[in-house]
Amino acid sequence: MSEFKSLPWLQDNFDKLAELESTQQIGHAYLIQGQKGLGKESLVRDFSTYLFCQQNQEQAACGHCQACHLLSAGTHPDFKFITVEEGATQIKIEQIRDSRNFLANTPLLGKYKILFINFADKMNINAANALLKNLEEPAPDTLIFLLSHQPVLLLPTIRSRCQKIKISRPSEEIALSWLQQHMSNDQAKLCLQLAFGAPLQALIFADEERQHERREIQKRLLELLRSEIVCSDAAKCLGQYPIEDVLDNLMVSLQQLSRGLQLHNTNVSANVSSDPISGIEGKGGTGTNDNTKELNDIAMNLTAAHIKPLHKFNSVLTQTRSAVQSTANPNALLLLESVCFQWIRLMTGKTEMEALTV
Ligand SMILES: [Zn+2]
Repeated sequence: MSEFKSLPWLQDNFDKLAELESTQQIGHAYLIQGQKGLGKESLVRDFSTYLFCQQNQEQAACGHCQACHLLSAGTHPDFKFITVEEGATQIKIEQIRDSRNFLANTPLLGKYKILFINFADKMNINAANALLKNLEEPAPDTLIFLLSHQPVLLLPTIRSRCQKIKISRPSEEIALSWLQQHMSNDQAKLCLQLAFGAPLQALIFADEERQHERREIQKRLLELLRSEIVCSDAAKCLGQYPIEDVLDNLMVSLQQLSRGLQLHNTNVSANVSSDPISGIEGKGGTGTNDNTKELNDIAMNLTAAHIKPLHKFNSVLTQTRSAVQSTANPNALLLLESVCFQWIRLMTGKTEMEALTV
């Protein structure tokens, strides 16, 4: 048995890779796929450390040999990491070309060279075609790991040349017991639910900075509902954060709103008095302490009749996310402005002209 204690639900995947390597059956290229927040990157990093460690005992990396130090410092000569560069939305051909020499040389320190491409579906078409050549003619002693939350966006020719490893969601019991090392039981339950069962994503939702960001976004939603701000100004405020984070936070807020309104509706039908949002969190003791005021204020402007429009707004967000992910340089401001307008339209029934005038 190998030691892979950091993310316990990945133990089986790790063991499988270790077994393939020890029996010389390891492939040249793997596509690691699964939803965001399951630890795909940790799996590749931990497996690479295990392979490179010069003193690994009982299949565990020692953590203090030269190879372990170089890897944790990001300077191991046999390990190359490619991801979307800061400020960019795609992986460019130059980044893939840069890896050619790396792939052509023999390993300097160990048995393997590892090329690790995170967000592989963000490779633009030229980058993807450049990588194809390496996948078609793999150099000996080379391992290529591609990671993707959305493998369907990868070129089929790339997908077909990789062996697939699908990372599954852990059971709720395992996820909660891991999350409880970082937060209270109630908060873990709520965040895990918001993160659709992905523990690392749940951890991000519980992060204080993210909670602050979410409250700021919710304030803009409220101001839009109350006609206190125009769409273009609201979009500018939202535009200070990465658009994918804004969309994530909006989706989380919507999910909480829908659930709160549904619970409230059920309670009203059953003649139980409740705050519109008490089902969401805080006072009822069901979750975190963040958001209560902002979400409650929004909910005060909505009724059960808004549950359907909330679902429609969620579709708007999903479509916007697809547009962001499939466009080289998405115009974030324009997309956010459209999101703000759709929010007003669906929640208040206002037309574009009416929404433009405050
Ligand atoms: Zn080591």
